[in-house]
Amino acid sequence: MPRMIARKRIALVAHDAMKPAMVAWAARNREALARHELFGTGTTGGKVAEGTGLPVTRLKSGPLGGDQQLGAMIAEGRLDVLIFFSDPLTAMPHDVDVKALIRISTLEQVVVACNAATADFVIASSLFDKDYALRLEETPNASR
Ligand code: PGA
Repeated sequence: MPRMIARKRIALVAHDAMKPAMVAWAARNREALARHELFGTGTTGGKVAEGTGLPVTRLKSGPLGGDQQLGAMIAEGRLDVLIFFSDPLTAMPHDVDVKALIRISTLEQVVVACNAATADFVIASSLFDKDYALRLEETPNASR
């Protein structure tokens, strides 16, 4: 049975208007995030690393393929949590990549938070620092 181990692999992505919110959120949750492995799209990852002092593995910038790199990691079972502060008020050139990222996250049971309030609930969860067994019968592809 697929399992998330206690040390989660977490991706951080924020659209431009949401980057200050992401840095503030990450700084506020620095202690909790320090126990896990962090990834980020290029610009977001750089800003979070600078703002928190935590190591962040940076992928390409989102519009240049970073979202697709995260999608590939998810398809390969290499990511557990996606903290994605998307901007619902601005059209993005990489809208299709964003949609694909949310879709593959849903399929693969990645824990997704698209705003700060949800991210707060996720990181405060008692499950966050524990092993967690995915229930295959509750996944969309269980019967295929
Ligand atoms: P960025 O990418 O962190 O490189 O800005 C985020 C995005 O726009 O998807």
